[in-house]
Amino acid sequence: MTSTMILISACLAGENCKYSGSNNLVEEIRELLKEGKAVAVCPEKDGGLPVPRDPAEIIDDRVISVTGADVTDYYLRGARIGMDVCRHYGCTRAILKANSPSCGPHCVYDGTFTHTLVYDRCGIFAAMLKEAGVECIDETEYIQSLHGGTSK
Ligand code: SF4
Repeated sequence: MTSTMILISACLAGENCKYSGSNNLVEEIRELLKEGKAVAVCPEKDGGLPVPRDPAEIIDDRVISVTGADVTDYYLRGARIGMDVCRHYGCTRAILKANSPSCGPHCVYDGTFTHTLVYDRCGIFAAMLKEAGVECIDETEYIQSLHGGTSK
């Protein structure tokens, strides 16, 4: 455990925790975990949602599944668990899955389930991390930073 530990979305490290039951593996991010430089969380799974599960999007202040179920409480519970992990490891940086209603650091889908992004809000967990002062980037920005681009 070090103060430089990076918080990552577990699906980016290859955990089959995304709504479809698969993952969003990025080899370079899995390497961080293998090298002991990162700690992985999945706020949706940790909050009590099953894998696989119905996709959900943020509508106003709630998170609603494609079948109309209000799953906000699961998202909030999982985000709080993720914050506990973040604090425990002293993480100041996070690499998060883009566009996720939990993890998306810059934008999320608009609640219409039409793959339409809105850029004026981020995921539930990402919002809590930012509020706590954690630097949040997505997987594309991380890869760009490895190749000399800016991370933000
Ligand atoms: Fe990945 Fe985050 Fe969604 Fe879990 S909640 S599957 S870690 S994007």
